[in-house]
Amino acid sequence: MSLLDLSDIYHARRRIAGQVTRTPLIPALSLCDAHTEVRLKLETTQPTGAFKLRGAVNAVARLSDEQLARGVVCASTGNHGRALVWAARQRGARATVCMSSLVPANKVEAIRRLGADVRIQGRSQDEAQQLVDELVERDGMTPIPPFDHPDVIAGQGTIGLEILEDWPEVDTLIVGLSGGGLLSGIALAAKTIKPSVRVIGVCQARGAAMAASLDAGVPVEVEELETLADSLGGGIGLDNRYTFAHVQALMDDRVLLDEIEIARAMRHLYLHEQLVAEGASALGAALLLEPARRRALDGRLGRNIAIIVSGRNVDMQTFSAVVEQRHPVWQTTPG
Ligand SMILES: *Cc1c(COP(=O)(O)O)cnc(C)c1O
Repeated sequence: MSLLDLSDIYHARRRIAGQVTRTPLIPALSLCDAHTEVRLKLETTQPTGAFKLRGAVNAVARLSDEQLARGVVCASTGNHGRALVWAARQRGARATVCMSSLVPANKVEAIRRLGADVRIQGRSQDEAQQLVDELVERDGMTPIPPFDHPDVIAGQGTIGLEILEDWPEVDTLIVGLSGGGLLSGIALAAKTIKPSVRVIGVCQARGAAMAASLDAGVPVEVEELETLADSLGGGIGLDNRYTFAHVQALMDDRVLLDEIEIARAMRHLYLHEQLVAEGASALGAALLLEPARRRALDGRLGRNIAIIVSGRNVDMQTFSAVVEQRHPVWQTTPG
């Protein structure tokens, strides 16, 4: 099934070494109990604040000088956009980020400050994506998408290599799931090295396109809803080529988490592990913190559990409101 194998991930690791942090895997005492040991893979320590640097650096490393001279382009204003701009800059290439006029000024400014050439078109993500296609067609720029690309998947997979090296006894990996590049890469690496490893995907209950697509058996669109896990928003692409099939084949369980559960986990990671984790990266902890969610997995969690804490790029006003229980999410459920 797979168009990628473990050797692609080893090659990716060699390419990204030096530009991407080999992140620590630290025991989280506040999440351990008599039956489980939990460790956190801190992708929050990457230079751009999220794991997406791995895939972007790997993809950019494979471009020819001629491709680099014409520049790279994407339509992401989030963690992928930040990563691509950083990765391009390391190689002296220009990165263009296309966005709609609805993207808030602070986000536009943040990505411009990293060195991006920002182009604004239309009033939707789709219209911004049309501009990407135009720039590829007209100016020969190379598009680097956020997840559905073999080099991006291989780059994210290096996380799996690192975890298996640092903790060969690991039983279960809990991975945030949106477009599925992260889960595809990690599961491919981990299960090739150790077939008994289980991979659990965690999504936000509000607008999880991959979960809906798995249920439908084909990629489908879902309405995008506001969520604390904003980095998990967006579709998987109706013409998805790689990640849908990978996730379908490699994921053992999936759990959808509510906003209040995400908020509790963000607060927990801050108060008990001193971590600033964005909503998308708190879902693994959220699963472990909710007894009902653990029971639903009925013994399939295993003993040694690694959670990918995938990023730290959260608006700090939102973050402090969540942590101090001033955020509206706390009003939705008593207690
Ligand atoms: C992109 C992202 C994810 C999900 O990765 P996919 O490859 O899209 O599934 C999880 N957490 C953070 C912080 C992200 O930026």
